[in-house]
Amino acid sequence: MKKSELIKKLNIPPAKFNELIELGLPSVDDKQKTFDWDEVIKWKKTTNQEKIKKLVAGKIYKNEELVDTFACTSQGGMRRSHYTNSLVLITAEKKANIIYQDKWFGDTLHYTGMGQKGDQSFEYTQNKVLKNNDINKVNVYLFEYLTKNKYKYIGPVKLSKNIKPYIIKEMDIDGINRNVVKFPLEIQTENYIIEKDVINKEEKTPRQSEEDIKKKAFAASNLNKSIKGETASFRKVITRSYDRNKDINLYIKNLANGICQLCMKDAPFKQKNGEPFLHVHHVKYLSEGGTDTVDNCIALCPNCHAKIHELEDENDKNKLLHIIENRKASD
Ligand SMILES: [Zn+2]
Ligand SMILES: [Zn+2]
Repeated sequence: MKKSELIKKLNIPPAKFNELIELGLPSVDDKQKTFDWDEVIKWKKTTNQEKIKKLVAGKIYKNEELVDTFACTSQGGMRRSHYTNSLVLITAEKKANIIYQDKWFGDTLHYTGMGQKGDQSFEYTQNKVLKNNDINKVNVYLFEYLTKNKYKYIGPVKLSKNIKPYIIKEMDIDGINRNVVKFPLEIQTENYIIEKDVINKEEKTPRQSEEDIKKKAFAASNLNKSIKGETASFRKVITRSYDRNKDINLYIKNLANGICQLCMKDAPFKQKNGEPFLHVHHVKYLSEGGTDTVDNCIALCPNCHAKIHELEDENDKNKLLHIIENRKASD
């Protein structure tokens, strides 16, 4: 078929077509004018599988990248793609304001199924696909939704071998008790790392009455009891491992001489080895391309460190950058 026909059949803009050519889209002639549809599809499928393989656990991707990699839709928490034989699951701390969410119990994520109102069912669309995953062999991939258009790749997942999918009672968005399906999932990536000092941001919730807060807390307690005795659930955070150089860390702390470089107060306590307890913060985050270098590092007390990440205040950041500049000058 001709180039114009192919563009039409692929349903892509001409600019995207040139991108595909650069990526190696096969053509019958060597002038990229005539194409064989079967060859093109074969090539596209391989490219998608390669893209999936190249995903890095802990790395953050945009929604467009998810769509492009898996050839899935751009919306929804469970996205099926026949084209790449995959099911993309999105987990979030909060799903559509429902109080009960996906929860980690040890290494297992109890993932909530589809359906915001009324009873959920194992027979419903993607719930069915996931429930029958042992039979249908669809590849399942898990992402964590962070903020607008930021999805952290957690890795390929499978249904837990030990805990079967189950149904429990939870409230829907209207506060009505209903059946909810849960899929205990296990991560298949071996080299994921649990970040130890993640500072969780408190979510802004509208003001609620004390009575409401109490009601929700007890409802949540009852649920936690019913699932796993009284074991607390914790949220596992998958992250890329960044090499933080020990020498840089030590040097930065020495420069600070036991004083937090933001509030300028003494470190809150001394460690067992007598060193003042300070955190080393990367002014430009490593996760956002910052480097683990002397000129990007500064020592902070734990309070100020938490404040920096919580508020991300430009004034604080500028103050730290200013101190680093002065430090450089006096080297
Ligand atoms: Zn401080
Ligand atoms: Zn930090």
